Amino acid sequence: MGNYKEFYRRSIEGRDAFWAEQAKLIDWHRPFDSVLDYSKPPFAKWFVGGQTNLCHNALDRHLKERAEQKALVYISSETGQQQTYSYRELHAEVNRFAAILQSQGVEKGDRVIVYMPMIAEAVFAMLACARIGAIHSVVFGGFAPASLATRIDDAKPKLMVTADAGMRGGKIIPYKPLVDEALRLAQFPPEKVLICDRSLDKQLTRVEGRDLDYASLREQHLDATVAPVWLESSEPSYILYTSGTTGKPKGVQRDTGGHAVALIASMRHIYTGQPGETMFTASDIGWVVGHSYIVYGPLLNGMTTIVYEGLPIRPDAGIWWKIVAENQVNVMFTSPTAIRVLKKQPPEYLHKYDVSCLRSLYLAGEPLDEPTARWIADALQVNIVDNYWQTETGWPILSSVPGIEDTPRKFGSPSFAAYGFDLKLLHESTGQEVGVNEKGVLTAVPPLPPGCLSTVWGDDKRFVETYFSSFDNQQVYTTFDWATQDADGYYFILGRTDDVINVAGHRLGTREIEEAISAHNNIAEVAVVGVHDEIKGQAVMAFAVVKDPSRTATPEAAALMEKEVMATVDKQLGAIARPAKVHFVTLLPKTRSGKLLRRSIQAIAEGRDPGDLTTLDDVGALEQIRNAVAGK
Ligand code: ATP
Ligand code: MG
Repeated sequence: MGNYKEFYRRSIEGRDAFWAEQAKLIDWHRPFDSVLDYSKPPFAKWFVGGQTNLCHNALDRHLKERAEQKALVYISSETGQQQTYSYRELHAEVNRFAAILQSQGVEKGDRVIVYMPMIAEAVFAMLACARIGAIHSVVFGGFAPASLATRIDDAKPKLMVTADAGMRGGKIIPYKPLVDEALRLAQFPPEKVLICDRSLDKQLTRVEGRDLDYASLREQHLDATVAPVWLESSEPSYILYTSGTTGKPKGVQRDTGGHAVALIASMRHIYTGQPGETMFTASDIGWVVGHSYIVYGPLLNGMTTIVYEGLPIRPDAGIWWKIVAENQVNVMFTSPTAIRVLKKQPPEYLHKYDVSCLRSLYLAGEPLDEPTARWIADALQVNIVDNYWQTETGWPILSSVPGIEDTPRKFGSPSFAAYGFDLKLLHESTGQEVGVNEKGVLTAVPPLPPGCLSTVWGDDKRFVETYFSSFDNQQVYTTFDWATQDADGYYFILGRTDDVINVAGHRLGTREIEEAISAHNNIAEVAVVGVHDEIKGQAVMAFAVVKDPSRTATPEAAALMEKEVMATVDKQLGAIARPAKVHFVTLLPKTRSGKLLRRSIQAIAEGRDPGDLTTLDDVGALEQIRNAVAGK
């Protein structure tokens, strides 16, 4: 155990020496000439001149010591399948997959779109791309054809990997027709589509000359060995589009060397996973959490990773804890949304399995409200680590770093700046640093540490203009999130800079009001937006999901409940933040990654067009907002 303050200080003041030390955690085919090239700010090139390969580091490097250790356990509660791959077996599958890609003419620098359900083959595809230096762009399997088509046109892939179908909640969801439609819509469709046929969709059709069958090609390449293609450290490894919560998704481009070093370092220091241990990240490979902590992080670190296809509540709300117990999971990672889903379920499932193997549960992706954090901490009796980051950074910006020092955590706070991030809270208009407990925009002084986006794919100008141009007097990376820092140095995220409500000149964060409403014991989830108001500028409107629906079943009951919610806000924040109206719904509109889509809720509440809905998870939720606002 060390001293985190000191570790952090070294990462900033002795930056190059610090990262040179971390870089020893991976294999380099050719050593780097310099740690950082920052000659063209804000573009940072890490480990310049070094050559490495992500797939070599995730697989080949472990064969000597852990060939027979489990590398990947695939579990599907949808199909009932379970399959384990040792490092030796995973290495063989990835070599086959890489040979297939090469046989189709995919080369270093070519893009490959992966549009797949949560199956092992999706991971083979990603690692196979990394092996041959192709750039993967995984598109979440739940996206509709139009969203897929815009990503295809931006990435211009040579080949696309998909499956006949996915499964969700027991229903078969054909993927191939969506792909066909997306390719019709796209201007730059790939030449080839590689289909992993799971025999779920009996109506699967193939386009002659374009569509390829994975199983038969695999048979042709059973004994293939494909040498890793060594990449210069800053050559791209992947493109991933942001969630699109606040606008048009941005193609985040990740490098190779910095990415590998950042992830393995985070596995050791932040996620405290040891080689040989097991990590279960309940997310999707379509999101950055899936890239970093289902695929690359655990495998770079010689761990066993769990790839889970299914919902957290099927066949029942105990399924995750069953997986934890049966696979002796040591470290788990998911989102606050998922925990809130479980919170609505009967509590007995939490105690049905022996989860004493589990040390820590990491939660990220959106604000972790205190009641939810306390609920899961009490139920599981494990460390709950709230960590804050973005698709752009690829690993935490804020987190406690228990691998170095297990500093006490405060509920509602993702603790401190992660090593390597020189953070500043800036006043939104003056750009001056704010004081203790004062609200500011969370920014990072560049260069950003290894692992962060190198640029926006194909658009250096957008990279600089979007992320580094918020303040006139200084070039800092902005997260577009509000935060405060308390006297002990703990950060608190208050929400996104575009999620602010202005009531009669008072600027209120949507998050603060949501947090206050969540303090009512019958509220499971809530979304707060500001709606135009002639007199006050904006008025606070809340949409809440209750735990006990009987308490909103009649108009009288709902009115009473609304009063209670208002009183709760009065008590917590004052009458100025009191919602003008609280609507009760059973579902909130979210992006497919589980983030609240406030911009659409607000648009509907103001009678405007909800705009781009391609990232919306369930249209039924918007319908409820519409009906609630219309008084139906
Ligand atoms: P877009 O940038 O396209 O609008 P997005 O911001 O939702 O999409 P992501 O990169 O998936 O895309 O999400 C990052 C954001 O999620 C952060 O900027 C922050 O708003 C929120 N977030 C992530 N982790 C946390 C956390 N621990 N606490 C609070 N907010 C978090
Ligand atoms: Mg964002």
